[in-house]
Amino acid sequence: MSQDKTQLARITLREIMLPLVEPFRTATGTVDSRRVILLELSDADGATVWSECVAEAVPSYTAETVDGAWQALTDWIIPLVLDKNFAHPTDVHAALVSWVPDHPMARASVEMGTWALAAARRQESLARFLARSSDLGAPPRKSVATGIALGLTSNGTDIVNQARLATAEGYRRIKLKISPQSDLGPIREVCAQVGAKAALSVDANGSFSTDDMSMLKEIDAMGLSMIEQPLEAKDFEGHAELQRSLQTPICLDESIESDATAERMVRLHSGRIVNMKAGRVGGFTEAVAIHDRCRLAEIPLWCGGMLESGIGRAYNVALASLPNFTLPGDISPSGRYWARDIVTEPWTMDSEGMVMVPVERAGIGVDIDRAFVDELVVRESTFSAS
Ligand code: MG
Repeated sequence: MSQDKTQLARITLREIMLPLVEPFRTATGTVDSRRVILLELSDADGATVWSECVAEAVPSYTAETVDGAWQALTDWIIPLVLDKNFAHPTDVHAALVSWVPDHPMARASVEMGTWALAAARRQESLARFLARSSDLGAPPRKSVATGIALGLTSNGTDIVNQARLATAEGYRRIKLKISPQSDLGPIREVCAQVGAKAALSVDANGSFSTDDMSMLKEIDAMGLSMIEQPLEAKDFEGHAELQRSLQTPICLDESIESDATAERMVRLHSGRIVNMKAGRVGGFTEAVAIHDRCRLAEIPLWCGGMLESGIGRAYNVALASLPNFTLPGDISPSGRYWARDIVTEPWTMDSEGMVMVPVERAGIGVDIDRAFVDELVVRESTFSAS
């Protein structure tokens, strides 16, 4: 596999402030742009790829943050990989995971970049290279189905209208955020209005406990396509017990941090679906291993989203083209989030909710809008092999 060897000669970190198409309400206030860390990685032969760190500005979905990831990359991760010889991107993962275990998203931004570099070196698409690395050996999908997540903050009428609009645009799955405090009325209304046009699901982000069984039973009776992460991330036994009492498939998201956690899910029957976010599992080495393990266990996957720019989206699209990603992923077109994306051709979705996979283009399949990136940069740091 000598053509997959990687020797990183230079890595440039850039933080950009990417303007959102509409302000986004979070627990700590309203933001009108996304802080994104971009990486430009060059190998010893001069090949260059871009990647993205999906850590968010504040700790919410995970403990990682933009500032923490920047420090982890600068102080530990980049020094561990720069100028070292790796036979395959999986070796980059192995080198990083033991030394920097608590920063999977920061690690993933480098590790996934080395997969893209190896694909570019082979003159093939990242999607094909990933498919080749899967035990399944099947070619990548040429297009991937797209779903949408609607937030907790909107009122009931808004949610029903947004769901109707989303199905009209072609989205194949609509996910509603939910908590034990949620009013189930609007969710029932969404089911009634658009349930025939799109798969419907709810995502609890771990907010329920076994005290909430009566509400969980009510949700179960709605016939949704899945209930995502009802209980806290580490409670595999609780999810297994809950799954036994529900008809609706449980989907695990935050629980799946590694292939070892996927093994636990499979062994204990803690759920029937996985929401995969490559950043959360430290990159593609673990993501492909989880994909293959779940396929054997007949557990389908879908690709989650972390408000990625067009660069991170390219990695998600490649991952979602693997054969066991059979459910619609959070792979919205660029225009849902960004007034202007940082890739020269924004991602688009057709009226059937499908996003094309650039299977015939070498590497990640998008070109970077360098001039626009330069306008957005708020800090930059370059590391070179000595
Ligand atoms: Mg989730």
